[in-house]
Amino acid sequence: MQHLFAKSALLSTGWASNVRLTIEDGVIANIEVEAAKQPSDMELGEQILLPAASNVHSHSFQRAMAGLSERRGASTDSFWTWRDVMYRFLDHLDVEDINAIAAFTFMEMAEAGFAAVGEFHYVHHQKGGTPYDNPAETSLQIINAAQHVGLGLTHLPVLYRFGSVNEEPLKGGQLRFGSDFDLFERMVEGAKISLKSAPNDYHLGVAPHSLRAVNSELLSKVTQLLPDAPIHMHIAEQLGEVEDVKAHFGARPVEWLLNNIEVDRRWCLIHCTHMTPEETIGLAKSGAVAGLCPITEANLGDGIFDGVRYVEHSGHIGIGSDSDLRISLAEELRTLEHSQRYQTNQRTVLAKPHRSNAQNLLQMATSGGAQALGRHAGRLEVGRWADMFTIDPQTILADGLSESLALDYWMFASRKDNVENLWSAGRHIVKDGHHINRAEYEQRFKRSLRKLRVLL
Ligand code: ZN
Repeated sequence: MQHLFAKSALLSTGWASNVRLTIEDGVIANIEVEAAKQPSDMELGEQILLPAASNVHSHSFQRAMAGLSERRGASTDSFWTWRDVMYRFLDHLDVEDINAIAAFTFMEMAEAGFAAVGEFHYVHHQKGGTPYDNPAETSLQIINAAQHVGLGLTHLPVLYRFGSVNEEPLKGGQLRFGSDFDLFERMVEGAKISLKSAPNDYHLGVAPHSLRAVNSELLSKVTQLLPDAPIHMHIAEQLGEVEDVKAHFGARPVEWLLNNIEVDRRWCLIHCTHMTPEETIGLAKSGAVAGLCPITEANLGDGIFDGVRYVEHSGHIGIGSDSDLRISLAEELRTLEHSQRYQTNQRTVLAKPHRSNAQNLLQMATSGGAQALGRHAGRLEVGRWADMFTIDPQTILADGLSESLALDYWMFASRKDNVENLWSAGRHIVKDGHHINRAEYEQRFKRSLRKLRVLL
């Protein structure tokens, strides 16, 4: 049992002072407000205690190619040229690299304010597409890495069957992703067995990759494979994809999905960049989470999500770091808000009247993220996992401000992530701004980088 004492905390009921919070078996067991500090309490000093977010979308292996696709080729670059770099990179990635890169990436997530991750995992096989002896081998590496780091995990094995909407065969780098449904079931089963010995906050979901990579029959099968488990899928990220889906399915991606599949709270739809107003409102009403990845979407030139309309209709939002180019909860939320300003020529567009913008963005991301990962977290409330982090107003030059103004300052004006402490389901893995085993993960990651960059 751990006891924390915070002068200020953002509880599900709002800001509270002199909070004594008890953690038992990773869960918030008790919260006292206006309490007296006890000698056994961990004293947080001036730090503000906040709910940590669940990162709804990551492909951790891509962390190792961050920054390597910024040189212009012969023609204007796009998502599709970025994807070519990714495929070349895959030719050199082995199981040890997958583990080392995932561990480093998950550590960075913890240092940035994320207590859990939904790993959308599609590098399943060896180069050329031959399955490993254990078809779930690479899933086991992800689960192992998350456990080492102590970050919560919802593992999302991906079904990737086709190269495009025309059911073209996979080729090149895609062969490492590809599975028929039988093989996919075996991979899911292997991951399920491995998760039996993982902490109780580890979960399994499924991820049909996109409407490019599965047909409607496979989509229906995969959504029935794990009843009640999270379902994640990329959708409407690129205009080219919208046109392809329209031509083949006879409707736009989100429109087709809402009309043909029972989309509900189990679903997290990644990107949703290109939607008509009707699709935006329909998705908001479905109860699903829109998994937004603002830094990656900006980097890939995807486009701008219709956030104002979606939030007006009470749509749920989660934040993902996707390509793991830069991992920062504050920057993701700031980029989301700024993207809406570019589009509307207004300011503080996602905030509620007279309320802190950062507080609103953080609370949307924590509750939507927890829903998307099937994780009983997202709010500091008795009975939920103790997913929490702290910031220190003194460090970020925000001392003397109210808690909500300090939070605005942290998100919009401070230079770094400035996460002082982080707990994932009660595991205290970030202390004094760093993961407790940072040096080990950094060393292994650098070893993989040296190898992969020489081969590129
Ligand atoms: Zn993605």
